[in-house]
Amino acid sequence: MADRQVERQQAVDMFVAGMCDGDRGPGGWGAVLHYGRHSRELHGAEVAPTTGDRMLLTAVAEALDRLTRPVSVRLHADQAVIGRHGDLRSRLASAARPHQIVWVGAADSGADGERAGTLARNGLLEATQRLDSRCVHDLITRQCWQCRPSAGARPDRVAVTSGGAVFHLSEGCAALHDGWRYIERRGGIRSELTWVPTVDALAAGRGACEVCCAGRDIR
Ligand SMILES: [Zn+2]
Ligand SMILES: [Zn+2]
Repeated sequence: MADRQVERQQAVDMFVAGMCDGDRGPGGWGAVLHYGRHSRELHGAEVAPTTGDRMLLTAVAEALDRLTRPVSVRLHADQAVIGRHGDLRSRLASAARPHQIVWVGAADSGADGERAGTLARNGLLEATQRLDSRCVHDLITRQCWQCRPSAGARPDRVAVTSGGAVFHLSEGCAALHDGWRYIERRGGIRSELTWVPTVDALAAGRGACEVCCAGRDIR
């Protein structure tokens, strides 16, 4: 019983890394998780143009998504990286909600931080290999105008409210907040925003919000 108590108080140590090809290009992310004697490694590839910071935040969100119950997390990353990425900030807030997270900085991440970097590099390699492989038109994927990914590629997840007909890319969307104010003025209660897989939102017949999805063709 005493042992279980200790285990319950133990925090998950999370080491993350993200990188991309050049300033903006295909990317990869990696994460190493330690919980007591258990460890887990994760990585992923992104073929659409991205940045190292975006990949790092993706690593955090993906790793948090894998946690099966609310825990304390010591996140070995610099919180400053969130600053410039509004859309990922809300995605991250959603993934972080059940957990208690302490950003402890990346300075002392040592071998685990290096390992996360290696995993991110593997992800980038996978993305590059996918872009260099032949597409269904028998062209190099990155050179095929139909198959090459663009910055407007479909996001993994979008935000929806229970009553709305559209999906949003940002929790800070002006149209979303206007809608909430309208409902509240009429004495209604605004519905919770939830992040769902984009394919599900599309399958449910929702369209892209014209305000926060402006310029993006999400189908
Ligand atoms: Zn093609
Ligand atoms: Zn919107």
